[in-house]
Amino acid sequence: MLDHVFRPCAIGGLTVPHRVVMGAMHLNLETLGDGGAALAAFYTERVRGGAGLIVTGGSAVNAAGSGGPGYGVLDDVDHRAALARAARAVHDAGGLIALQLFHAGRYALPGASGADGAPPLAPSAVYSRFSRTAPRAMTGRQITETVAAFARGATAAYELGFDAVEVMGSEGYLINQFTAPLTNRRDDAWGGDAGRRRRFPVEVLRAVRAAVPPGFPVLFRMSGADLVDDGTPWEETAALAVALATAGADALAVGVGWHESPVPTVQAQVPAGTWAVYAQRVKRALRAAGHEAVPVIASNRFNQLAQADEVLAGGDVDLVAMARPFLADPAIVEKSRTGSDLSVDLCIACNEACIDRSFGTERVSCLVNPRAGYESVFPGRRFPACRNRYAVIGAGLAGLEAARTLARLGHEVEVYEAAGEPGGQFRLAARVPGKAAFGATVRQRVRELAALDVPVHLGHRVGVRDVQRLRAVDGVVLATGVRPHRPNLPGVDLPHVLDYARAFAAPEALGPRVAVIGGGGIAVDLAHLLAGGASPALTPEEFLASRALTALPGAVPVSGPGAAPAGGHRRVTVMRRGGRIGAGIGPSTRWVVLEELRARGVRLLTDVGYEGITREGVVVIGADGERRLVAADHVVLATGQLSRREVVPLLRQAGVPFEIAGGADDARALNAVRATAQGLRAAHRI
Ligand code: SF4
Repeated sequence: MLDHVFRPCAIGGLTVPHRVVMGAMHLNLETLGDGGAALAAFYTERVRGGAGLIVTGGSAVNAAGSGGPGYGVLDDVDHRAALARAARAVHDAGGLIALQLFHAGRYALPGASGADGAPPLAPSAVYSRFSRTAPRAMTGRQITETVAAFARGATAAYELGFDAVEVMGSEGYLINQFTAPLTNRRDDAWGGDAGRRRRFPVEVLRAVRAAVPPGFPVLFRMSGADLVDDGTPWEETAALAVALATAGADALAVGVGWHESPVPTVQAQVPAGTWAVYAQRVKRALRAAGHEAVPVIASNRFNQLAQADEVLAGGDVDLVAMARPFLADPAIVEKSRTGSDLSVDLCIACNEACIDRSFGTERVSCLVNPRAGYESVFPGRRFPACRNRYAVIGAGLAGLEAARTLARLGHEVEVYEAAGEPGGQFRLAARVPGKAAFGATVRQRVRELAALDVPVHLGHRVGVRDVQRLRAVDGVVLATGVRPHRPNLPGVDLPHVLDYARAFAAPEALGPRVAVIGGGGIAVDLAHLLAGGASPALTPEEFLASRALTALPGAVPVSGPGAAPAGGHRRVTVMRRGGRIGAGIGPSTRWVVLEELRARGVRLLTDVGYEGITREGVVVIGADGERRLVAADHVVLATGQLSRREVVPLLRQAGVPFEIAGGADDARALNAVRATAQGLRAAHRI
């Protein structure tokens, strides 16, 4: 098993111990002002968990290249000190680390750490929907200065103790902006035809190569397919790969997609391994040009080593980069190597605590692993002098997190859950098409708790009979979750009206026309389930075909899901009084989800007033003041939740200290990221 992953690989003068690279992630730890302590702890834990070569998040080569307020700039002595500390920590733990050299170009977000208030720099002044900025076209001098800045960055990486550098040239950042006709409208030495469009990346590579000693590995992350209209044509991508290899690149990592792409690339809806095809084609282009020896690294949308192994077995890819899976489980490599991969915490591609946060300043973390980014705050395992006894009431995400944290800290824990299954609200989400991986999280927790000798009493609603039992413990984490809120609407008690939990439990019992009152994340998930039926997951080939991407990498992608949705037999309407449908869903995912709903024919109504529910459906007043009937056989209420805290008086009666976590604490903005983070914190506080 995993024979292809666990083979060493040479990149320049460096031998990496296996074929899985921890890909670059911007963490918002880089400029925390703690001297690099959190960054060092984050990387160290991943090395201990088996990471071979780590690539840092992007470090801007100059102030203009900063991507956002949390980005480090290599000219900054504090950032350099933090990087040096991280590199030392990785080496002390036995790992290898490459510094990613970065320039955001027109993707610099407002408030970028090096910004002087001026618009960002780019090859041409082409407005970006991502950063909502019209950049300034770079002068020839600014371009040569930027090339020199990359070279200085490489020297700095070498001097700071890094083992390699990776030049960031994909995902629509500055270098990629030079290769794409969309953003390079120049007609000078740096644009106008294919050769001049690839001049900037090649000059950067040459300058970086020359700035570091021979044998010091230089990786280049290039775009295999921009997935935007007027992106880099495939012939130019292949020619760029060859030019980079000729100019001395020691490895090519292949990314796909821009932040402005109409095609999802890293969302849960994208089948695992979909984008490997672009790395394979780059490898074939290199082989045809006599550069077979240059390793090619596939990336994007792998979350298990078995998937990496399968792609490596195909022979056209030399390594696989995985990023988010290392957030979700720092020990993914070691657990997979030792055959305990069933205990791996899988990344579920929700993007909620990672990518969505990386666009702002909040510390990047992980829904399924809330310790991520906080390794120096919350120890992973501890063997306390005094082993306490705790009870966790509720086995939703918050309760499960609290229970495993307490057990990892060496305490004795028992979990009580009123329902017959663990997982709470999260278990409902696992039924939604494209979210099957959510179920894996719950199954992993159950396995981990069993391994930690934590009994989970299902079907046990804590009540008066448990007072003695509660008196015997040293503390309780109360994570009893929520119950659906029932609005005060005329007709709400009619027999065809039900709450979202019941609808999730038995979607097959609902009629062909369903009206959902409420437009938050739960309503959106439910609409997806009801309108999509039990859609089979697409294969990578089907996904690419649905986007017209099979002919050639870089072909103009189709907006919206092209494949006919399976099982879309219901007419579903989602209604919201105010605000946007799915407003709580993160920016990297919301557009994909809404696109899918529209493709399934789901009607999305906003700014409606509810007059009442009748046997025929819901009578609404539209934004235009017009009264109309939304015809429905069933009406589902997804109008928020209320905290369940019935046990609190009992805990007071027992005189036991307790902490509240998850929806039981605050049901207003029910949020799985917050639930797991609160579970972790409650376990450390109690
Ligand atoms: Fe994966 Fe979600 Fe964790 Fe990000 S927050 S690493 S997408 S599970």
